[in-house]
Amino acid sequence: MRREAQAVVIGGGVIGCSILYHLTKLGWSDVVLLERDELTSGSTWHAAANIHGLHDSTNISRIQHYTMTLYKELEVETGQSCGVFQPGSLYLAQTEEREHQLKLQAAKAKLYGMNFYEISLEEAKRLNPLVNYDGIRCVMYEPDGGNVDPSGVTNAYAVGARQRGAEIHRFTPVTATEQQTDGSWLVKTPKGDIRTPWVVNAAGLWGREVAALAGVELPLQPTEHQYFVTETMADVAGHGTRLPSVSDRDGEYYLRQEGQGLLVGAYEKDMKFWAEEGTPLDFAHDLFPDDLERIEDNMMNAIKRLPAVGEAGIKRVINGPMIWSPDANVLMGPVPELEGYFCCNGIIPGFSQSGGMGLMAAQWIIEGETQYDMFAWDMARFDTWATKEFTKARVQDQYAHRFAIRFPNEERSAGRPARARPIYALQAEMGAVFGLNAGWEHPLWFATAPGAKDTNGFTRQNWWEPVAAECRMLRSRAGIIDISNFAKYRCAGPDAETWLNAVFANTMPKAVGRSCLTPLISKRGGIAGDFTVTRVAEDAFWIIGSGMAERYHKRFFKAVPLPEGTTFQPRTEAICGFNVAGPKSREMLQRLTNTSLATEDFPFMRSAMIDLAGVEVLALRVSFTGDLGWELHCKSEDQQRLYAALLAAGEEFGAGPVGSRALMSLRVEKGYGSWSREYSPEYWPQEVGLGRLCKLQKEFLNKAAAEDVLKKPAREQLVLLHLDEAETAASNADATGGEPIFKDGKGIGRVTSGAYGYSVGMSLALGFVRDAGPGDEVEVMVLGRPHRAVILDRPPFDPDGAILRG
Ligand SMILES: Cc1cc2nc3c(=O)[nH]c(=O)nc-3n(C[C@H](O)[C@H](O)[C@H](O)COP(=O)(O)OP(=O)(O)OC[C@H]3O[C@@H](n4cnc5c(N)ncnc54)[C@H](O)[C@@H]3O)c2cc1C
Repeated sequence: MRREAQAVVIGGGVIGCSILYHLTKLGWSDVVLLERDELTSGSTWHAAANIHGLHDSTNISRIQHYTMTLYKELEVETGQSCGVFQPGSLYLAQTEEREHQLKLQAAKAKLYGMNFYEISLEEAKRLNPLVNYDGIRCVMYEPDGGNVDPSGVTNAYAVGARQRGAEIHRFTPVTATEQQTDGSWLVKTPKGDIRTPWVVNAAGLWGREVAALAGVELPLQPTEHQYFVTETMADVAGHGTRLPSVSDRDGEYYLRQEGQGLLVGAYEKDMKFWAEEGTPLDFAHDLFPDDLERIEDNMMNAIKRLPAVGEAGIKRVINGPMIWSPDANVLMGPVPELEGYFCCNGIIPGFSQSGGMGLMAAQWIIEGETQYDMFAWDMARFDTWATKEFTKARVQDQYAHRFAIRFPNEERSAGRPARARPIYALQAEMGAVFGLNAGWEHPLWFATAPGAKDTNGFTRQNWWEPVAAECRMLRSRAGIIDISNFAKYRCAGPDAETWLNAVFANTMPKAVGRSCLTPLISKRGGIAGDFTVTRVAEDAFWIIGSGMAERYHKRFFKAVPLPEGTTFQPRTEAICGFNVAGPKSREMLQRLTNTSLATEDFPFMRSAMIDLAGVEVLALRVSFTGDLGWELHCKSEDQQRLYAALLAAGEEFGAGPVGSRALMSLRVEKGYGSWSREYSPEYWPQEVGLGRLCKLQKEFLNKAAAEDVLKKPAREQLVLLHLDEAETAASNADATGGEPIFKDGKGIGRVTSGAYGYSVGMSLALGFVRDAGPGDEVEVMVLGRPHRAVILDRPPFDPDGAILRG
C-alpha cells in the first residue's frame, strides 16, 4: 500500500469509484481508494439502478446526461460490462401541472440537445402495451432511459481507475483522519497510514461516521427503501423487445423490466428512518425484512396503471438503506472550514448521477472549481443550523414527496422554524408568509390575516395579488423590507483595506462613508459573488453579501491570508436589517432622525452611522428595489424597536411591510441580477455587466483568470425581456427561471429570473442569450409553450437612475 498519495478516497461504492476514476482521468494517477469491505457494500449493491437524463435543474440534467453517455464508453474502455439496458423511459402526465413540468423539460431538452420529447399515446402504446393510458394527458419519451448493473458500473470505474495507476484496497477500513500541522492528512487504517493533501469522504451510508473522524458534522439521515421484482410475466416475456421503463410520478412509484418480469419501487408516505443514532459498522451487504404493506398504496397505483402487475407473483423484495440530505441533493465540495477535505455524500440517484458527480468532484479537487455552477449541490448550502431534528423532518418530507413536482417558488414547511429573528412572531401576526433562507425565516409576502399559506403551481398563485399591492405601495409611497437574511461581515484593522483589495475585484472605497459594489472572482474567472463594501472608519469596513452563500464564500475569504492585526468577522446573526424604499422613504425616515437625509447630505452610495428612533443603525443609501431608499442595519437586540418605529412612521405615509417576493419583482423591473441566478461562477463579468467593476490595475483573488476571460468576447449576454402581455395573461403565468428562449426556432438562451413587474405593468424575465440583442423578438417557453417576448434595451423602471439617485 502506498504511504503517500495525491488523494485518498474513502468508500468503494459507485460514487467513490467514480471519483477515483475521474481523478485519474484528469491526470492524477497517484490516488488510493480505501474500502472497509467489498466494493459496493453500502447502498450500491442492491440498487434498482434506473438511469434518467432529464431533471428540473439544467446542470443536474447535464450531469445525468454525461453519466448516461459515459457507461457505454466505460465498457469499451475497461472491457467490464456495466449491464446497460436502454430501452427508453416513458414519462406520464396525469395532471395539468405534470404536463407543464414535462413540457418545460422537453423544451429544455431541445435547447440543450438532449433526447427527451413528446410522443403520441398511440406511439406510447406501441412501445409499452402493458400500460393503461386512460387519463394520461401527455407522454414524454427519453430513448436513452433504462437501467444498469450496479456492481458492473462500480467495477468498471474501479478497473478504469486501476488502469491509470490508482490503487484500491478492499477490507481496509479507515479508522482515523488526522490533519497534520503542514495541512496534509494522515489517513489511518489497520494496514498502515497514508499521508495525503486530499481526503475524499465518499462513505455513503457511513458518510456521517467518516466525517466525524475529521470533526465534521453532516446533515444526513438514512431511510429504508423498497422495491420488488415479479416472477416471469407472459406479457413481458412475449413482448419481443425490452419494455421501456415507466415514470408515472403522479402514481408515486417507478417501474421497469427486470429479467422477464417487472421491478416496481416506491417512495411511500409512511416512510421509515434507519440508523438514527449512527450507521452500524458491521452492516455490509445486508437488507431489512420485507415490509410490502408500507408500500401498498403505491403498489395499487402501479396495478391500476399496469394491471398485469397485479396478476404476477412476487419473486424478490429488496428493502435496503439509502442516506439523504435535507433537500435530497448531494452534499458535495471541500469543507469550507478545513483544508483538503472533500465530501460527496447523500446521493439518492447515484446511478443517474455517478459519472457527472465523479467528474465534478475531480474538477473541484484538481482544478479548484467545477465547470458547472454546483451551488445547489454544494455542502456549504447547509451549516450548523441544519440540526439533527431539522434534517430528520426535511428527509421525511423529501422521501414522502420524492416524486411530487417541485414548483417554482415552492417553500416546504418541514423542520421549520430552524432559526428566526426577534420580530418573527410579530411578522407572523401581521400575516407574513415565510420562506427559508440559509435556515432563517424571512417574510415572502404579507397576507391580510395571519395563518395564510402559499398555493403552488407553475401559473400565478395566491400571492400574486398581495405581492402586486406591496410593489405598488412601495413604488408609490414606501415599503419596509426585512433584509436580515443578507450576510454581513466586518473587516477591521490597519490592513483591512489592503486585504479587501486583495480579495475583491473592485477598488475599495477610499473615504469613510463611501460604498462600492464589487464582484468576487472565481477560479475560472466567473462571478463567485457580488458584495457591497462600505468604509465605516479609516480602518473598518462593512461587507454585505448573499446570505445563502455565506458558508460558500468562506472558501474565497480564507484563500487570502489575513494580515496580522486585521480581523474579518461574520456578523449575520448579530445584525438585522431593513430596506426602506420608495418615493416617500426619505420623508418617512427623516421623521425618525436628526441626520439630514437630503440628497446633498446623504447621496446615493453613501453611508453613515445614524440614530434612528433611538436605535444606532448603519444607514446605506442603496436599495435592491432600484428605488430611492436606505438599507438600515442594527443590532439584533434592537430589531423589534426599530421595526416598531418604522411601522409607526410608515402609517402617516401609507407605507407598510413588503416581503422578498415583491423585492424580486422590483429588482427585475430594474434589471438587477441576483446571486445564484444571474451571478454564478459560470458567468463571466462582462456577460453580466460587471466587467467594469474588475480593476485590473490592482491585484485581487483570481485576477489572472478574470484578466483572461475579460480579453474574450462575451459568450452570451444577460438581458431583460418583456413577455407578451396577452399571452402571459392567457396562460395566467410568468417566467420563473429556467425557461428556454428560442429565436426563429433556434435555442438561444434561457431565463434566469422571471417576475411580473407590477409597477410597470409588464411580465418580465432576466436571462442569458447569444446572437440576439435589444429589439429582437424571441420566444420564451413559459409552461413549456412559446410566449412571444422582446429584448429590452433599458429597464422599464427608472432607466436613467434619476429616482435612485434623486
Ligand atoms: C433499494 C434501493 C434502490 C435504489 N435504486 C436506485 C436507482 O434506481 N437509481 C439510482 O440512481 N439510485 C438508486 N439507489 C440509490 C443508490 O444506491 C445510491 O445513490 C448509491 O449507491 C450511493 O453510492 P455511494 O457510493 O454514495 O454509497 P455506498 O454505496 O453506501 O458506498 C459507501 C462505501 O463506503 C464504504 N465505507 C464506509 N465507511 C468506510 C470506512 N471507514 N473506510 C472505508 N470504507 C468505508 C462502505 O463499505 C461502502 O462500500 C437505490 C438505493 C436503494 C437503497
